[in-house]
Amino acid sequence: MSQLVERQQAIANGSHALVIGSSMAGLLAARILVDHFDNVTVVERDRLPQQPESRHGTPQANHVHILLAQGERILEQMFPGLEAELTTAGAPSLNMAADFAFLGVWGWFPRFHSNLSIRACSRLLLEWAVRRRLTAYSNLQFLPETQAIGLLTDNSNSQVKAVKLRSGDVSQENELNADLVIDASGRNSSLPKWLETLGYPSPSETVVNSFLGYSTRWYERPENFQADWKGLLVAYKPPHDKRGAVIYPVEGDRWAVTLSGIGRDYPPTDEADFLEFARSLRTPIVYEAIKDAKPLSPVYAYRRTENCWHHYEKLSRMPEGLVAMGDAVCAFNPFYGQGMTTAALGASTLDQCLKEQFRSSPNNLTGLTRNFQKQLAHILETPWMMATSEDFRWKTTEGAQPDSMTRLMQRYGDQVALLAVNHTDVYQTYIEVIHMIKPPTAFFAPSILARVLGQVIKPHPEKALLIPELAVPKLS
Ligand SMILES: Cc1cc2nc3c(=O)[nH]c(=O)nc-3n(C[C@H](O)[C@H](O)[C@H](O)COP(=O)(O)OP(=O)(O)OC[C@H]3O[C@@H](n4cnc5c(N)ncnc54)[C@H](O)[C@@H]3O)c2cc1C
Repeated sequence: MSQLVERQQAIANGSHALVIGSSMAGLLAARILVDHFDNVTVVERDRLPQQPESRHGTPQANHVHILLAQGERILEQMFPGLEAELTTAGAPSLNMAADFAFLGVWGWFPRFHSNLSIRACSRLLLEWAVRRRLTAYSNLQFLPETQAIGLLTDNSNSQVKAVKLRSGDVSQENELNADLVIDASGRNSSLPKWLETLGYPSPSETVVNSFLGYSTRWYERPENFQADWKGLLVAYKPPHDKRGAVIYPVEGDRWAVTLSGIGRDYPPTDEADFLEFARSLRTPIVYEAIKDAKPLSPVYAYRRTENCWHHYEKLSRMPEGLVAMGDAVCAFNPFYGQGMTTAALGASTLDQCLKEQFRSSPNNLTGLTRNFQKQLAHILETPWMMATSEDFRWKTTEGAQPDSMTRLMQRYGDQVALLAVNHTDVYQTYIEVIHMIKPPTAFFAPSILARVLGQVIKPHPEKALLIPELAVPKLS
């Protein structure tokens, strides 16, 4: 009997939620759904590896993936003990001010023991650990090598009732009934097309493209490597310096080294030029660190990095029993590391919406779609503003222009960043905002606002700019 037929029988009794896509957004949604539905199925086009291995559907996993502190906290609530598991697997702890050296626009940020640490690991390990945790839920089943190819609605065409699936033999199409369908199929989601096929409008999109490219290579961390930092980030410096880099320490004493270029200054995809690009950065530290390090991988390239928001929240009509989340709704320029954390926030929002929904009318999903998409859109506003306003520092960026409020925030943010170079308390707030622990309004706390105003009214001889960019500052 095929796995699909078996599943159809298993879900015949009780409520059923079906998730399309088993990457981070789909997995986190599934974690929420097991608490609300009798049965949960996650369908995934790829074969799912038994170990942390790369797969076709998530090519981004070959690149540096930073799970921001907010995302880490949410994942730990969903999967208690996950951080300890990652630690056991060798993922190092990174204190975001002491261990992670950050060369920003105005110079190096200060290095001190902040109260913000994260667990640094590869995206492959994280996804695998989360998936493994989910296999412990008896009401959840994965259907790997199964592709969703469309939706079916009820007779009134107002409610999704099943998903059309293709697995194994490509000529074989099947259906799996579901009370709730979650589209978490990523940037290339077919949901807009499926909606049109059903006679529904498809969502409008906002796209902001800074033409950013990534090239990543994995290295063995040199045994004799001498530095008092564990990870390092070099940001771009508008208007001219379009090149950035990250050295990210992960389990197995490895470094994931991502070189990036904005405004079509794409980093090379071949091995020899990779080092030359690293040498051209505004600090030699990345080049010095990797030039003699042992590479463990080829150079992986990625260029599909535009910010893209599908506005499901604005649709006048959408069938009931359907929600979209993760990159399928909003994918960000990855440089700011917001995707997985936003997916986690989306999953928490789904939890809240389902609790509210079932509290007022048990088992009734009417209204969930609209409520969820609106609440999700609210969550997306801040990361979207943060990512796109940074992108619009570059004249080469194309797409919907930021409003005057966003531009004002950008200018104010510049002043906060300058202040943060010289004040540890401001840098602490700065990283808390970047890690989505605090909202950007934290920059308007009286103690910061007063100093920003002072800095604007009476500019210092810009101390920060005098800090040499060549060397990482010492840890204080
Ligand atoms: C280069 C790069 C670097 C990034 N760096 C970071 C970072 O540092 N920090 C961070 O938080 N985020 C980062 N992100 C973003 C992050 O990868 C995503 O936001 C996150 O994985 C959530 O994506 P998702 O689950 O919505 O979609 P995806 O990860 O794209 O997954 C979609 C899944 O759906 C499956 N699928 C697709 N269509 C179907 C179908 N029809 N039927 C069945 N299955 C289907 C795919 O195989 C895949 O498994 C980065 C992204 C890129 C591109």
